Amino acid sequence: MATAPGPRDTGAIAPSRERGDACPGTLRLHAADDGALARVRIPAGALTTGQALALWDAAQRLGDGSLHLTSRGNVQLRGLGEGCGRELADVLGAAGLLPSPRHERVRNVVASPLSGLDGRCGADVQPWARELDRLLCASEGATGLSGRFLFAFDDGRGDVAALGADVTVQAAGGAAAVLRLGADDTGVSVRGDDAARAVLLAAEAFLDAARDSGTRCWRVSELPGSTAELTIEVASRMAADGIRGTLVSTPPTTVGDPPPPGAVVGPGGRTTALSVVAPLGVLTGAQWRELAAVAEHDGNGELRLTPWRGVILPGVEDATALASAGLITSPASPWLGVGACIGRPGCAKSLADVRADAAKALGAGPASLPVYWSGCERRCGHPHGDWVDLVATADGYDISVHGERPCTGMPPSELAAIVAAARTSAVTR
Ligand code: SF4
Repeated sequence: MATAPGPRDTGAIAPSRERGDACPGTLRLHAADDGALARVRIPAGALTTGQALALWDAAQRLGDGSLHLTSRGNVQLRGLGEGCGRELADVLGAAGLLPSPRHERVRNVVASPLSGLDGRCGADVQPWARELDRLLCASEGATGLSGRFLFAFDDGRGDVAALGADVTVQAAGGAAAVLRLGADDTGVSVRGDDAARAVLLAAEAFLDAARDSGTRCWRVSELPGSTAELTIEVASRMAADGIRGTLVSTPPTTVGDPPPPGAVVGPGGRTTALSVVAPLGVLTGAQWRELAAVAEHDGNGELRLTPWRGVILPGVEDATALASAGLITSPASPWLGVGACIGRPGCAKSLADVRADAAKALGAGPASLPVYWSGCERRCGHPHGDWVDLVATADGYDISVHGERPCTGMPPSELAAIVAAARTSAVTR
């Protein structure tokens, strides 16, 4: 367990933006080198098997056949052909994955994926997250949010609270929770049953503050001035809306580990779910179909995508079929903790085939720090907290543990040993 960075000062420099938010969605595709890309928001990562099969169908018929998991527990479809937008919207809409087309890019909601399954934390935050999605889709004002604005519901274990969300609700024991904006060191206590309504009020207060500032802020951290003022405004709006809340100080977040692959053990030692991880966050069509089949026949028909590119299958106990399909089902896998952006040939900005280089440098077993390979300095989809950071350059790779001075220009042939050593170093920020 490590500790997340403490609250940042609010002296944010407001961004100067000429263009609107071009974040991709299901209806707004992004033109990549390997075809169009769609990002399908999956609030709380929650999918029915029917929805999973609709995504599989879209990937097979319209895209490259694979399902790409993101660091927010969403799904990307790549390699989409020209002019497929209408058919894609029809397939996903029929499965209930587009409940409100005008809100499709603002449904960025993560929730502790093991909540309610392993008995580790008192509150089950999954219903709170799903209620927020319903409220977002009914809110005219919420259409003004950027596609990057993130909501997190943490059940107290500190997993999704460490993802740098704009509005975080963290269960605090019993029926209580604390709502926090950005990394502010003040929050508002709230009853769990009221959390979703309070979060929507917080998002609306952010939009008003962004408009009043005359800037084009997309994230809470970009607001000029003090986030504490915004927190006070949220408490005031909660009171006006009949939601009880008290200003409280919020200590730095203790970072909880992502769900390890394997059996999820619940109260009484009973297996309540299976946790699997996709190597480099990509599932082939066959792997995805197998997941849906196992969830349907052995589980309760639900899949929960995690922000760590894994999937939780509630009710499933046996990992045999998914291990045979090539998914990570054991903490001993050398693929665990290895991530990469799409790199070459999918992204024109990439200076290397980072996925192939990551595979060549795979170690013998898991290590304490995650490693992430990026084709350029943008580091799309990188992890949070400490990680071994590899960035392709024209002269090889730059390697650092996040925040440290990098070793520069390392040739691919020397990377396996260097990465293995860096991943086992006990570096704490
Ligand atoms: S990090 Fe760079 S190379 Fe990788 S996907 Fe993002 S823009 Fe492309």
